[in-house]
Amino acid sequence: MLFEDLSLSKSIQKAVFEQGYTNPTPIQEQSIPLVLSGRDLIGCAQTGTGKTAAFAIPIIHQLHRIVGSSKKAKQIRALVVTPTRELAVQIGQSFDTYGKYTNLTQLTIFGGVSQNPQVDTLKNGVDILIATPGRLLDLHKQGFIDLDHLHTLVLDEADQMLDMGFVNDVKKIVKLTPKNRQTLFFSATMPIAIRELAEMFLTDPATVTV
Ligand code: AMP
Repeated sequence: MLFEDLSLSKSIQKAVFEQGYTNPTPIQEQSIPLVLSGRDLIGCAQTGTGKTAAFAIPIIHQLHRIVGSSKKAKQIRALVVTPTRELAVQIGQSFDTYGKYTNLTQLTIFGGVSQNPQVDTLKNGVDILIATPGRLLDLHKQGFIDLDHLHTLVLDEADQMLDMGFVNDVKKIVKLTPKNRQTLFFSATMPIAIRELAEMFLTDPATVTV
């Protein structure tokens, strides 16, 4: 399969080709059409399989269509929750790369640094937010984050979030999002505790394993 076969908007195709990608990886080939169809998704995939683009590309495609060149105030439409600062930064870079020919705006937030620049950007409005759990809940509690207009929630590296003790934070975060959201759940491993978590958060999910 070629990226051209995925019916992605030209602005995304251009950014993907500039990266030198011609073929989607297996997780991308399977996930991108499912995400575009609006399904909830469980992706069982390790880092290195191209899983970031497997969720970032269809999210950018959907939001590009919804938000387009609208001059209306920006609302958070996609939220990616990931366990570590390093992963958050990498995911933010991917959204930057694949979305460079769209008008979408994004922000990556994590703890251990001053919140002021993060808050300033939030006040200007962003379409896509990438976050570690603690800083997300902290800024939400302070009233800087509104998730009422969220379209897609991504829970990335769910097994690592569980191992790091973020399970209650993740449950709190999911409760802050609309019930009719699309949920994408990625984990490198699928032990029972992870499967139960997925069942709690997802509606009739498709499962993709690579
Ligand atoms: P990830 O699994 O998301 O951490 O991605 C692993 C690496 O694969 C990243 O460096 C990406 O830039 C690269 N990558 C993602 N998708 C593709 C693709 N379709 N073709 C070639 N490289 C890719």
